[in-house]
Amino acid sequence: MGRKKINHFFVSNNGSPKERVLSTLHLLGLEGMASSLDNVAEKAIKKQSTFFDFIEDLVSNETIYKESKRIERWIRLAKFSSSKQLEEFDFSFQPSIDKKVIRELASCRFVDDGKNVLFLGPPGVGKTHLSIALGMEAINKGHEARFFTLDKLIELGEKALHNAASSSYNRLFAALTNPKLLILDDIDFYETSKDLGMFLFQIIKERYDKKRSTILTSNKKFDEWKDLFGESRRAEAALDRILERVVIINITGDSYRIKDRLAKLKNVVASGSI
Ligand code: ADP
Ligand code: MG
Repeated sequence: MGRKKINHFFVSNNGSPKERVLSTLHLLGLEGMASSLDNVAEKAIKKQSTFFDFIEDLVSNETIYKESKRIERWIRLAKFSSSKQLEEFDFSFQPSIDKKVIRELASCRFVDDGKNVLFLGPPGVGKTHLSIALGMEAINKGHEARFFTLDKLIELGEKALHNAASSSYNRLFAALTNPKLLILDDIDFYETSKDLGMFLFQIIKERYDKKRSTILTSNKKFDEWKDLFGESRRAEAALDRILERVVIINITGDSYRIKDRLAKLKNVVASGSI
């Protein structure tokens, strides 16, 4: 939600000085300062802070507030399919994942370096969870991120290609190529039309040329989904670009969705019931 556009600054003379300060802060859209004014003033009195310490504290509350609003906004714009954090991921359940590699990815240096990340493995092992969690980390660090499932991308791509107005194609292409980090979830085998194959290739090529990172997840080996790009030479060219700068995480464990069932089974075995 954008801030109210202010055409004139009418500062009222009514009320106490504090009320006037608060209403001016609201008028200027300085909500972080307004909401922390009481605390910061109290702290300054207690600590007998200098004026500059007081102002610094107040201003830094505004920075923190604005930053948290930015993060909220960018998370909304990323359109993640759900909200996932790295802290919620139980690494002990998935020993095939090297925690150090994920920790390194969480630093988001791979985004600075324009590297891709591939999460491969059967359903339920946490590929989408880790992708979204890395997307959130990227946003925290100031990189724009955008999430698409391949299904959705194909649906939107087909629509945009059939729409006579080029603006819808351009908008979709920009949404896929502008963000520093793109997440393409659930890459699978699809028989794409020639135009759609070309469209998908153009996305990969543009992101490669601009050194922008893409996280891809799939439960298929990548030679099984290269037909996405249609013609085989184009598919090779797309894969070459994806794989040139890449971190591949192969997850080989059990689905987390059956975790509870597995735990129950272990209890039954331990108690000797079967
Ligand atoms: P995939 O994308 O590999 O099919 P998901 O990431 O969708 O799997 O995981 C399925 C569900 O299980 C999600 O709700 C996810 O948050 C959860 N999950 C998967 N692995 C773990 C894990 N190791 N620790 C905590 N939750 C997990
Ligand atoms: Mg998934």
